[in-house]
Order: sequence, then C-alpha cells, then structure tokens
Amino acid sequence: MSGIFHQKTKKHRRRVRLSIHGRVQGVGFRPHIYRQLVHRNCAGCIQNTPQGVLLDIEGEAKTVENVVQNFAEMIPPRARIDDMEVTELAPTGEKFFAISDSSSDGDSLLPIPPDMAICRDCRRELADAADRRSGYAFNTCTCCGPRFTIAGGVPFDRINSEMDKFPLCAECRKEFTDPSNHRFHAQTMSCPRCGPHLSFFSLNENNAKAKEITGSKAAIAATAKALRDGLSVAIKGLGGFHLACDASDPQAVERIRACKRRPHKPLSVMVGGLDTARKICEFTQTAEDILSSEIAPIVLLEKTSSSFLCDSIAPGLGRLGVMLPYTPLHRLLLDHTDTPPALVMTSCNRSEEPIALNSASIQAGLSDMVDGILDHNREIHNRCDDSVVSIHSEAPVVFRRSRGYVPEPIMLQHNAPPILAVGAMWKNTFTLTRGARAYQSQHIGDVSDADNADYFEDTFRKFSGLMRIEPELIACDMHPDYPTTAFAQTLAARKGLPVVRVQHHYAHILSCMAENAESEPVIGVAMDGTGYGNDGKIWGGEFFIAGLRHYTRRFHFEYVPMPGGDKAVSQPFRMALAYLSKTIGADRAVSFMREIHDDALPLEQVAGLINNQKLSPLTSSCGRLFDAVSSLLGIRHKCSYEGQAACELEALALKGESGVYPYRIGDQQVSFTETINAIIEEMKREISVSVISARFHNTIVHAVVSLCDLIRGETGLDRVALSGGVMQNKSIHENAVLELHKLGFKTISHKTVPPNDAGLSLGQAAYVNADLSE
Ligand code: ZN
Ligand code: FE
Repeated sequence: MSGIFHQKTKKHRRRVRLSIHGRVQGVGFRPHIYRQLVHRNCAGCIQNTPQGVLLDIEGEAKTVENVVQNFAEMIPPRARIDDMEVTELAPTGEKFFAISDSSSDGDSLLPIPPDMAICRDCRRELADAADRRSGYAFNTCTCCGPRFTIAGGVPFDRINSEMDKFPLCAECRKEFTDPSNHRFHAQTMSCPRCGPHLSFFSLNENNAKAKEITGSKAAIAATAKALRDGLSVAIKGLGGFHLACDASDPQAVERIRACKRRPHKPLSVMVGGLDTARKICEFTQTAEDILSSEIAPIVLLEKTSSSFLCDSIAPGLGRLGVMLPYTPLHRLLLDHTDTPPALVMTSCNRSEEPIALNSASIQAGLSDMVDGILDHNREIHNRCDDSVVSIHSEAPVVFRRSRGYVPEPIMLQHNAPPILAVGAMWKNTFTLTRGARAYQSQHIGDVSDADNADYFEDTFRKFSGLMRIEPELIACDMHPDYPTTAFAQTLAARKGLPVVRVQHHYAHILSCMAENAESEPVIGVAMDGTGYGNDGKIWGGEFFIAGLRHYTRRFHFEYVPMPGGDKAVSQPFRMALAYLSKTIGADRAVSFMREIHDDALPLEQVAGLINNQKLSPLTSSCGRLFDAVSSLLGIRHKCSYEGQAACELEALALKGESGVYPYRIGDQQVSFTETINAIIEEMKREISVSVISARFHNTIVHAVVSLCDLIRGETGLDRVALSGGVMQNKSIHENAVLELHKLGFKTISHKTVPPNDAGLSLGQAAYVNADLSE
C-alpha cells in the first residue's frame, strides 16, 4: 500500500536544473529566487557559478512547470536573463531549498555586474533617524551599490571584493542569513559598526594631513563647510576621486581650471535632486529617466537662460553635463544644509591623466588643486570614470561608456575564440571577447600620454584577469604610430599571436553594426575627426558599402591638405587656411583671414606649408571641415580640448533655419569648395554667424542624404549606419536620421557604445569575430 502511495507522489514530483546566463550576480538574484521558491513550497538549491547561476528546483510537477514557464517574471528588478537552459533531473525527494556556496570552476561568462546607484530602500534608511544605517555613507543592499569598482575576482562574492576587509558584525550577519530580510545574501552590505568609515582632512604646507575629522556626520559637515567657503575638496567616489567645488563660485571654478590645466573643457555638475536640475537645464521625461536610473550617468542637457551657475562651467556651449548623487556618500553631502546647491564634480587629475585612486597620490601630485580630502578606507579596485550620455531625438547616446555600463557584455554575431581589440588613441577603450560576448573596458582616455599608456596596460592586466580571458588573436588600428598598435605588436610577439589591423572608419561602422546586431551589408556613414586610411591618407568623411567582413569606400569628402599635420587638429585656423586656399587661392586666403580676424595668427607661415605634401598630409576628415568653418567665422582658431571648435560652432547654430549651401558630388569625392565660397559671400553681406552655422550644418546633412541616396540607387541597400565622432553633434545626427527616414531609409545609430573613438575597439573585435567564424 505504502509502495503505491510512494510511487504516486514521486510521479507528481519533478526536478529541473536551470542554467541561467545574464545579469544574475550582484543584483540579489539568489535570495530573491530563494524567497519565491520557498513561498511555492519548492525544494532544491541555487548557486553562483562563473558562468551565471545554477538553479535546481524540485516540487510538485505543476508548480515546477509553472516556475519554468514564468521564470522571467520572477527575477529581481535589476536582473536580466540572456539565456536559460532547462535540464530534467531525477527527483531526489529533497525537502528544503538552499543557497549553496559559489563555485569558481570553469570559464567565466558574466562574472561581475556594473556599479549601481543607491536604491530607494537604502535612501529611505539613510534619511530615517531611527534606522541603524541612518546617515551611513556606505549603505547598500542586494540591488544597489558598488560592484565592478570593488571586484577583485569572480564570482562576485564578498570574499572576492574590497568588502572582504570588513567582516560582518553580529547584527549584519543576522540580516545576511535571514531569508526574509532584504539584505539576505547582500554581498556588499555593512553597517556603521562593521563597514568602512569616512574621514575629512585638510592639507598643511607640507601636503601632510592636518585637522583630521573622523566620523561620518562630522566629516560630511566639514566637507560641506569647506565647499560653502569656496574651497575645493577631493571626494573619494566609486571609481576614483572627484574634485568638487561650488559651481556658482567663479573663483573656485577658475582655480580648478587653472590647476587641472583645463581652460575651457566643460566641467560636469552634481545637484541634489531634479528640482535643482530644472533650474539649470531644460528637461524632458527621457532626461529624468536616465538621470534617475541605476546607471545615473552625467547627462548632457540644454542650459536654461536663468541658471545660477557661473558661465565658466561650460563656456561657449549650449549644453551642460549634470548628474544626481549616486552613492549614499554623495546623497548625504548634497543633502547637507551647508553644501552649495550645485557642485562641480570633475575627475581629480590633471587634464587627460588618469583619475586619482587614493589620497596619497593626491597629496603627492595634486595638492595645489585640493584644500581638503573626503576620504574613506574602502579601496578602489578598478578605476572607473563617470559615464556621459547625450539625448538625441529622445534616445540616449552614450559618449563615454564607463561607470554603470562596464563590464556589461555586448553580443556579437558569432561564437569565436577570445579576441583582444586595443582601440586607437583618443578616448580609448579596449575590448575582450569570449564566445559571442564582447566586454568593453572602462574609459581609459588619450593613450598618447605616458601615464595613460601605463593605465591602459594596467587596466588590461586587471580586466583580462577578472574576466579570465586569454586572447588568441589581437586586433588594432592601421595607424603605424599609435601606442596601442605598438602594445598589440609587442603582446602578440611575446605570446606568438596573430595581429589583425582594421581600418579606423570601417571599425566605427562595425561597432555601430555590432551594437545593433546588424549582420547584413549597410551604407556606412563614418563622419569623424581623423583616422589612418588604407591609402596612407588621413580619412574622416567616409561613405562605405560595409558588410561584416568587407567594405568598399564609395564616396569620401574631398582631400584637402592639413597644414602642419596633427597641429591642425588643435589649431583650426590651419584648416580654415587650407579650405580658403582651395577656394580663393593662398594669397587671398591669408588677407581674408587677416582682414576679418585681427588675431596674431602665423597665417603666412602656415599658408606656406599648404603645398608641402610632407608637412601637410591630405585629409578627407569631416571634423576638420567643421574646424575650418568655426575658425573662418571667428569662433575658434585654437582649441584646448578635442572637438572644441566644432562644439562651439554647433552651439551657435540658429534653430529653425533651413537654408542650404551648394556643394558638388564627383565620381568619388564630395567637394565643399562651393560651400566655403557661399560662406565667404554671406560673411561679406554680414549675415549672422548663427545663420551661417545653421546653414552649414544643413549642408552637411543634405550631402549625407544625397550620397546615401546615390549609393542606394547603385546597390539597393536602404539601411544606413551612422558613426564617427561627428555623430556626437546633436543637430547633425538628429537631422540626418530625420531626413533619411523621410526618404524611406532605415538608420542604425549608436546607443550605449560611443560613436567616437571609444567605440573603435568593439568594431575591431566584431571584425575579427566575423572573420574567425568563416
Ligand atoms: Zn539598496
Ligand atoms: Fe575616429
């Protein structure tokens, strides 16, 4: 009798194993699933592995079926499932559900989630005087807090992170082991008793610590007071130190600019909440959503006319980078009554150097720009800058992909052996792949700088170690002199690996295709600063017919000399002279520039270089044409940051203006000589710079659309990939998309991978990934 009964119950039981990949670690996945399954009377176990999560579920057959069918709805809010495999197992009669220890076997697929902004629950505790974590600057739970920046190994568990140095106190341990608590298995949790702590100190004349103030409340208060008094304070964040000062104090801002050697480049600002943000910039729902998301990036928004910020925050620009407090530390600081309503929060470094990681390095090298340091004793394992997001046609376009995004993978088309792609030189990142997953590194920056080149190698070592990826193939740019090319060759020689060189602008298009999972050929529009072309010239205004493995260069911007080579990148007046010379001749070019701009520019000297092919290489760069027009209009002759001339030209363009200048399309080149001529005529007629700028922008968009239309006529392709640094220009990008759609084109644009050179490493990796799969 009992035998039959036993058989019957067994028959109705079922046990399955779910092997789950995606963002399933560090987001409270196991405890959340634990609670859901215990509630449904299921037994089994759940375990983190380097690949993701293994989940065994045993219970009544109907219930198990239900769980498998509806699993996607059972996961915690910040989790994401990429794929899930279901295997049937024999029921064991297990009675309980358990969270097992993590396994560290095998190859890791998605080991570590990105850092996430403080969640609502943790914020509430912070402000609740009765809560034991009230005012606690390191408050985190299963769904928020630092992850990538404190991760030292996989899987993402406390023992593999910088929190390992802070053993849980008895009370925290109780929460950690209590399935009903929202800190059940929260790997980064702590409390004022057992966790890291804050301190504030000022620097004396020997750059040693003076007046150290410990204790969270007192340290925050001292920082707030220093900021209110116009001082600048280095504040330890998630991926490095910020340099902060009152954003409405022109003297404080000027001092930071002088010390950082950053005279004009826009500084980002942190405000306490959306109400203050609305006072300094124009807002849409999209902006609000991105600002308040778990990524909490810097968002570029249109300045209001009545802003209380000083003009030197983003001089000459229409938009401003704004962010909200994303850690409890920032929250406490911005909520303090002494803290100014808006803070400059820029990376604590000199221009283009890596962001500072500890107070010792600030004391040693940056003490001139810092009056005090808000420090704490949790180490930063991985450097990570703030991410920067722009909004084009109400959709986010990431300009800098770092904190909050890294190390989220991007899916490539094929399963292929591991690849390292090293990127180019400016705004650099690298990409490592495993199978079809591409992991792009955090923002590294300009690797022509020696410190950043070290940072590149250091980051590569850490990142490849963390991901456990040993590349079998290396991809780099075609430029012979990029430090990344040398790095690729050295590493390849040492390890006996092949190197593949991918053309710069083709890599731009490939990165756009990769991000949009596009595998069919497209019309590739790469409008960019400069990159090495396969004819040895400098490219940057390119119209390709591009597939995953081949491209044809169908059209390009007409070649013009770049007087003095790379110098022309930072001195737009050189490009103005080059374009003017082509249009009205060298002599008249010099006298025209002299007449309208009485700057002490070495015009004759530069004009003398134009016909010297060695000193003035030819370029088809779109960015250089923008530079030329910016200087021609007297907006910017010399730049202190990349893209400044074009950004200031864009900021001045009159909205709603629809005029277009003439240009000429040849067999292979598109010439803007007639455009320059028309601009000269309008300047003579004293048409305003705003109108000319707008008409120039319209002309570029018109040319893009016409060229795409020609290529469509020849090939039948109707999908256009838009990439390159010029796609950061909001008006060019938005209007190109708009006009292309009017003519029935489909467009693909960048979303979370930057259109600028930071996206190149992904494109290089995508090329090798496709090539290896053949
Ligand atoms: Zn939380
Ligand atoms: Fe580029």
